[in-house]
Amino acid sequence: MKCQEIRDSFLGFFEERGHRIMPSAPLVTDDPTTLFTVAGMQPYIAAFRGEERPPAPRVASNQKCARMGDLERVGRSATHHTFFEMLGNFSFGDYFKQGAIEFAWEYVVDVLGIPPERLWITVYTDDDESEEIWNKQIGVPLERIVRLGRGENWWPEERWEGPCGPCTEIHLDNGPETGCQAANCGPACDCDRFVELWNLVFQMYTEAPDGTLTELPSPGVDTGMGFERLAMILQNKNFSTETDEMWQIIQRTSSVRSRSPGRTGEAISTTDATLRPTWLFG
Ligand SMILES: [Zn+2]
Repeated sequence: MKCQEIRDSFLGFFEERGHRIMPSAPLVTDDPTTLFTVAGMQPYIAAFRGEERPPAPRVASNQKCARMGDLERVGRSATHHTFFEMLGNFSFGDYFKQGAIEFAWEYVVDVLGIPPERLWITVYTDDDESEEIWNKQIGVPLERIVRLGRGENWWPEERWEGPCGPCTEIHLDNGPETGCQAANCGPACDCDRFVELWNLVFQMYTEAPDGTLTELPSPGVDTGMGFERLAMILQNKNFSTETDEMWQIIQRTSSVRSRSPGRTGEAISTTDATLRPTWLFG
C-alpha cells in the first residue's frame, strides 16, 4: 500500500464504523501550556475532561505531530522522526476497552493482513480486563501478552493534570534473528526487534501533582498509530524514511546536492549504528 492509500484505508475503516473524520489540528497549538501538537488526542483534551462537547461520540483523525518527549531517539532508531503523523480513533463516553481492542485487531489483521502470530500485546500491570479481552475474545495466546508498568503502559508517562489512563499496545515482532538477540528481549526492549504499532489509551482519570487520580466524567478511548511505522511495515522497508513518500523527498534532496541517496532495498541491520544509511549523515 502506498502512503496515501494507508491514510485513506484507516480513515475509511473508522468512518464505516460510525466515526466522524476530523481534519488535523494545526501543528502549532493555541494551548498556552504547550508549543506543538505532539499527539492525536491533544485537540480533544477539553472534551475528555468534560469541559467541551466532543465533535461526535466517535471520531478519527490523521494528526500532524511534532516529536518532543523522546526527541533524542531521532536518528538513532529506524522509526523516530521530528515530524510524524498519528492515525487515531477516539471515543468520548461511547465504546471502551472491548470496542477499541476489537476495532484495532480487525483493522490490523483483517484489513492490513498483518499475520496475527507476529503481533504481541502489552497491557498495564493491573489491567486484567484488557488481558482477558485479548486472550479470551480475540484469541491472542497469553505468552504473547506482556504486562508492563507506568513507563510503558500508562499514558502519559510523566504526571500531568490532563486526561490519563492505562493503555494497551500492539507490537510487531520482526523475529528473534533481528534486534539485540538477548534472551529477555520483548516489546519493552529498545532494540528494533519489536516495533510499537498502535497504542490504545483508556482515558479514565486526571492526575493531580501529588498523584491523586480523579475519574473523568465518562471514560473514553484515545488511540495512536504511528503512520510512518505502519507504512514502513506494509512496504517492507527497514527504515520508515524509505517509504514511498519520504524516499521521493530524499531522492530529490540528494539530486540537488549531487549525492547518492544511500542504500535501500538491502537487508540493513536496523540495530547496528555503523550500517545506518549514509544519507542520515549527509
Ligand atoms: Zn531487544
